[in-house]
Amino acid sequence: MMERDRKVIGGSETKIDIRELSDRRAKFILSGVSSAFANALRRSAIAEVPTLAIDDINIYENTSVLFDEMLALRLGLIPLETDLDSYILRSECKCDGGCPQCQVSLTLSAEGPKVVYSGELKSSDPKIVPSDERIPIIKLMEGQKVYLEAIARLGKGQEHSKWQPAMCSYKNMPTISVSKCNGCGACVEVCPTGILKLEDTLKITNELDCSLCRLCEDVCESRAIHIGSDPTSFVFNLESHGSLPAEEVILRSADNIKEKIDGLKKCLKKLS
Ligand code: SF4
Ligand code: SF4
Ligand SMILES: [Zn+2]
Repeated sequence: MMERDRKVIGGSETKIDIRELSDRRAKFILSGVSSAFANALRRSAIAEVPTLAIDDINIYENTSVLFDEMLALRLGLIPLETDLDSYILRSECKCDGGCPQCQVSLTLSAEGPKVVYSGELKSSDPKIVPSDERIPIIKLMEGQKVYLEAIARLGKGQEHSKWQPAMCSYKNMPTISVSKCNGCGACVEVCPTGILKLEDTLKITNELDCSLCRLCEDVCESRAIHIGSDPTSFVFNLESHGSLPAEEVILRSADNIKEKIDGLKKCLKKLS
């Protein structure tokens, strides 16, 4: 996991201040945009960036205690490392019934006693493997067997959550101001994130972590602390499930919005 130095991108209006970036996580402040745009970016990241997930299963043998349907459900939820340059959506493929461009096959053959983990899935494409080898699939007792072929396809989170590449959330950028504080320390006691510290004066250690719960305002009898938020700045947190790097999820999410806007522009030009 490679951490990237803090980086600010953009001009005076729209800016992205990257606070954390690794393979699986991204935290950044997006400023100079409306809440509608921030929400569009979030929705596009979770619902419109495709990933590969197991979508069809041929079960040849299953003598375990799990029904076939439950086994299929568990396999569908295993994140698969996805190469979006090599695969296309089934709906965009011209083939009849599936081909190496729109699907990949994974097989699983295991016999108990043991716990079967995701790492035992054998893929026909070495690039497409479970993003984590230690996801438990099933516990087999002595003599129980599972033998199956799973077909993975590209899909989008708007169709099923198994294709969702990441968790993505945002909040307004918090602003905390303090004036005429008497140093009683009541707010420090109630702050659930521990960002308020009482030294000589009241100190705010990390404004970004404020959850905007306003408990500090409620307990401050002298009304010395004020919690607000910037309506044009948003603190984003994105955690990839492992199918795609966090950075790729954000970039593809932004590309998707741009494509939609370009499509809308073309439609409007035809009307005028
Ligand atoms: S509760 Fe109010 S007066 Fe007491 S330390 Fe906090 S801000 Fe200051
Ligand atoms: S709003 Fe909540 S999290 Fe933020 S400083 Fe006050 S008590 Fe702490
Ligand atoms: Zn195909």
